[in-house]
Order: sequence, then structure tokens, then C-alpha cells
Amino acid sequence: MVNFQKARDRMIELQLVSRGIRDPRVLEAMGKVPRHLFVDEALQDQAYNDYPLPIGDKQTISQPYIVALMTEILELKGTEKVLEIGTGSGYQAAVLAELAERVFTVERIPTLAHRANQILKKLGYKNIVTRVADGTMGWPDEAPFNGIIVTAGAPRIPQPLIDQLAMNGRLVIPMGDHLSQELILVERVREGIRKTNLGGVRFVNLVGKWGWEE
Ligand code: SAH
Repeated sequence: MVNFQKARDRMIELQLVSRGIRDPRVLEAMGKVPRHLFVDEALQDQAYNDYPLPIGDKQTISQPYIVALMTEILELKGTEKVLEIGTGSGYQAAVLAELAERVFTVERIPTLAHRANQILKKLGYKNIVTRVADGTMGWPDEAPFNGIIVTAGAPRIPQPLIDQLAMNGRLVIPMGDHLSQELILVERVREGIRKTNLGGVRFVNLVGKWGWEE
């Protein structure tokens, strides 16, 4: 039997702090959320290792460092309304729920959305709302969002997501081709839209109207 709290503490030191994750709230959240409960039982002893893991339907739960990095980029203080595209296992949504006021998360594959919703309910998260839909369209009824995080690789930045970003809001999205992407930060500032390239990443495809074709 693995000591999961110890595994989490090691993950934080060896994978996150050592690579420059500094936001104490992000580190605390990642030290708290039981990542092993978001993967198949057979993979639980690998849940805190330094790589992504399969979650079924050809999808993956991201490497812990990438979750921490993208979360830190959102600069959450606790009052925000956040939108996540690509619920997957639900792990990233749980981390966000520790750090923001409310989290809206969209998944296109019903079986994944259902499983994620079950574990999030079981863990007692009351500030997360899940939905099965094409997340490239955003969530117009709940817009605007202070933070938007896309956890699948996109060929371009979906215009609906830019439109649904609040003033001073931050959108983080991997953009590129099927094999590799650049992490792009999009900020809505007084003067308009500001984009910053934050370096290379590798994600499964964002599939949808503003994403890749199925
Ligand atoms: N954030 C997840 C990992 C996501 S993997 C976690 O913490 O486990 C990427 C997910 O994005 C996959 O589950 C995939 O089905 C989903 N996805 C891809 N295109 C999508 C779209 N247009 N709308 C919603 N979800 C999408």
C-alpha cells in the first residue's frame, strides 16, 4: 500500500517546486487533491509520477507539472469564476475548485464526464458544475469568466472563448498541430487582447467546431 500523502509531498518538491512553481496556494491545492482517485485502480500507484496517464477513450490525465503550471498561470485568488474545457478525469477541475469560487467544466465524451462527475461529488466538491458539450463554444449562459483553461491541444484559439473572457480575465490554451503545441496566455486588458507564448507542451486533440475535426 502506497502512502499517497507522502507521494504527493514528494511530487510537490521533486516535480513542481524544483521546476519553478511558486504560488503557495497552487502547491497547497496539489498537496491536497487525491490525484490517485482520478485514475483507474490499477494505475493508482503511478498517479504521482512525472508523466500523464491514460484515463480511457484515448484520453489522458495531464502530468502533474503541467496541471500546476497552467493553474499558476491563471493567478487565482479565490473569488473567480473559471471555465475548463476538457474535464477528462476531473482532476484539474478539483485543483481549480480549491483555488477559485466556482468552476464550470465541459467534456465532449459522456462516459468521461459521468465518471468525473461521480468522483467530484464523492469528494464533496460543491462548487463544480460539469456539462457534456463541445467546449470550443464555451459556456455562454455563464459567461463572462475570470479564468478559462483549455486542457486539449487546439489548432487556433476559439473565438467564443475570447468573447467569454471577463475584463482582466486570463485564458490559457495549448495551440499548435497534432503532435506539439505552444502554451498561449490570452489576457483581456483595457486596450484589448494580449497574447503571450509560454513554451512547448503536448496535449491530446481539442475536437470540435473551433478545434480539430473528429
Ligand atoms: N483536464 C483533464 C485532462 C484532459 S485530457 C484532467 O484533469 O484529467 C483532454 C480532454 O479534453 C479529453 O477528455 C477530451 O475528450 C476533451 N475534449 C477534447 N475536445 C473537447 C471539446 N471540444 N469540448 C470538451 N472537451 C473536449
